[in-house]
Amino acid sequence: MCPVTSDVRNVIIIGSGPAGWTAAVYAARANLEPLVIEGSVTAGGALMNTTEVENFPGFRDGIMGPDLMENMRAQAERFGAEIVTDDVEHVELDGDVKLVRDGSGTEYRARAVILAMGSAYRELGLPDEKRLSGHGVSWCATCDGFFFRDQDIVVVGGGDSAMEEATFLTKFARSVTVVVRRDQLRASRIMAERAEANEKISFAWNSAVDAIHGEGKVSGVTLRDTVTGETRELAATGLFVAIGHDPRNELVKGLVDLDAEGYVLTEGRTSKTNVAGVFACGDLVDHTYRQAITAAGSGCAAALDAERFLAH
Ligand code: FAD
Repeated sequence: MCPVTSDVRNVIIIGSGPAGWTAAVYAARANLEPLVIEGSVTAGGALMNTTEVENFPGFRDGIMGPDLMENMRAQAERFGAEIVTDDVEHVELDGDVKLVRDGSGTEYRARAVILAMGSAYRELGLPDEKRLSGHGVSWCATCDGFFFRDQDIVVVGGGDSAMEEATFLTKFARSVTVVVRRDQLRASRIMAERAEANEKISFAWNSAVDAIHGEGKVSGVTLRDTVTGETRELAATGLFVAIGHDPRNELVKGLVDLDAEGYVLTEGRTSKTNVAGVFACGDLVDHTYRQAITAAGSGCAAALDAERFLAH
């Protein structure tokens, strides 16, 4: 039989990125005694995969991503947040008392649940992509563009976000080569025209990245012509992957309203989902900003919304 914790808690927070930990700090300081189920291999969230974070306020000299997450965890613990290191595998969100079951089969109950499962950047799936992540391979121009001053950069993708990343990167880069699988862009006309008019941007049409090279950091890529199969080498010190994101909604699909792209829908500027007592925050709800600080801000809002909900 599955172990069941008998008490009904105030709030369970699912996820331990900046959104989850910020929600935990606020909920703990409001005496809600939150339980955080932090995940297993992905505990700590997206910033565990990066090196220096230079744009999180309060760290004048920057901070390593994993250190920032460890600080947030310790801060939540300091105020009494209880932490379980496991993935949530099942939730029942209807009714006044919600049920959350983790990978060990333990069931927890609470009157409010905060969803903070983040979103996954799509990867190219190349062997050296992970190894060189934070060492030239990036998924976020806003986060990392600054590190690539006067360098040659490759951006992979043909949609709006790839055009936005490429255009933004021209502020720093010497050159930006956009690698597009087909002979045309998927991006909206205005975004495409803006990128095409930028003299620092060139396009590698009908191309895919077959390999990423570099020992300690990226030194270049192999491009394959998707029509002829021919390959060629391209020297570059940065590779930005902009082929989309997948909000981690598997747990709540069919249980809370999602938008067409799978992000959890929230009411206006609040973190309220369509289910009473269920709140969502961070990259799980955010198409637009996807930054640690915006995720933290929305985690704060979720804790305050949950606190008000519980007070009624
Ligand atoms: P995440 O950080 O993704 O955390 C999601 C959490 O949910 C994880 O803890 C995971 O374990 C947990 N989870 C998921 N499913 C389950 C489940 N079923 N059960 C339990 N737990 C679950 N932003 C910046 O502001 N500055 C930067 O320099 C920067 N650099 C970045 C570098 C990289 C390589 C990447 C990928 C992102 C970077 N970002 C940066 C973006 C930033 O990391 C995200 O915007 C932010 O982490 C989103 O926070 P979040 O809490 O919503 O989600």
